[in-house]
Amino acid sequence: MSTIVQKYGGTSVGSVERIEHVADRIIKTVNEGNRVVVVVSAMGKSTDELVSLARQITEEPSKREMDMLLTTGEQVTIALLAMALHKRGKKATSLTGWQAGMGTEATHGSARITDIKTERILSLLEENHIVIVAGFQGKTANNEITTLGRGGSDTTAVALAAALKADRCDIYTDVTGVFTTDPRYVKTARKLQSISYDEMLEMANLGAGVLHPRAVEFAKNYQVPLMVASSMTEEIGTIIEEDVTVEQNLLIRGIAFENDVTKVTVAGLPNKIDTLPKLFTLLSNNNINVDIIIQNQYDEKSVNISFSMTQSSLKETLSILKGAQAELGFSDLFHEDELAKVSIIGSGMVSNPGVAAKMFDVLATNEIFIKMVSTSEIKVSVVVAEEDMVLAVEMLHKAFQLEEAETPVNVG
Ligand code: ASP
Ligand code: MG
Repeated sequence: MSTIVQKYGGTSVGSVERIEHVADRIIKTVNEGNRVVVVVSAMGKSTDELVSLARQITEEPSKREMDMLLTTGEQVTIALLAMALHKRGKKATSLTGWQAGMGTEATHGSARITDIKTERILSLLEENHIVIVAGFQGKTANNEITTLGRGGSDTTAVALAAALKADRCDIYTDVTGVFTTDPRYVKTARKLQSISYDEMLEMANLGAGVLHPRAVEFAKNYQVPLMVASSMTEEIGTIIEEDVTVEQNLLIRGIAFENDVTKVTVAGLPNKIDTLPKLFTLLSNNNINVDIIIQNQYDEKSVNISFSMTQSSLKETLSILKGAQAELGFSDLFHEDELAKVSIIGSGMVSNPGVAAKMFDVLATNEIFIKMVSTSEIKVSVVVAEEDMVLAVEMLHKAFQLEEAETPVNVG
């Protein structure tokens, strides 16, 4: 008998009708002879609604109370889904994160899973129950309720699949799989048959919202076979796996992008050994996340350092830097807003030079200025003006032949 973990996202459980539909799908999987553990998100946009309720009271709610509030969303769904399964004559039990044994760190709002005590789930499965677990939540060693960060139900599902040594973890969402790029922006975007953990991790980290990055990390670390598919159709989704099924001749598997990027330049810093550590320790002590970093020496005595970050951190960053101007010893502070990051991703580029060159060439041909660049073994990211973002993605999608049908060859 196989154990399958299925995760249904907010849209898939967005109404009573949808929940009933999900119940039918679960029963189908059970009737095929599987043990099923289901992880669900809060219904529709209800997490956003809870956030907005809190904001109506205070701009700075306590993180503990925020977790207390947000975890109620998933609790609604688990109970309703259990009822829908009972109505269909099935044994089913809903469990909150802590009832399901989800142990986490004590970081409210973005807790990492530390351990999962699976006894209760296993004994329920033994008694032929369908087990329904609230996603995105857990409990600390001190019995405090935590959440895993927005979108964290994916991580609950994959972590459970790993702990239960499940045969498969299926993530059901409102799209039919992982696409070469966001189909809402690029009409020729194509669903991928498969993608490697590493490529998916880059895609998720670089703005493809389809999977929570930590879920992919978990899947890779524990080799959990993952599939992303739609709960509305029977269409086969995208498989995420270790064995890279490289598409013939296709170096690039996907293009991710995100807007709301800003670039900060700290100019005229002393060209000293401790300049970089001082600057970035200051930012990190204030929990400011920076992305791409560029250092330029313009004479013997001074350097300029630029970094990109999300627009939402800009105000705080500028005020921290201004406050430390004397200590850091810089002369000027600039920022450039309304930028976007566009990234091309593919394991194939490891052994094929010229991918970055081609990217730059395509962008230059379309008169798109590149403001920053960063690379890893399997990705190249550029920062461009936000108004050029979609054009850049479209042109790269075409130039790297991502719209063409795949001819998978297994080289794993
Ligand atoms: N309900 C949470 C959110 O909207 C967690 C999730 O759906 O994965 O972020
Ligand atoms: Mg999600």
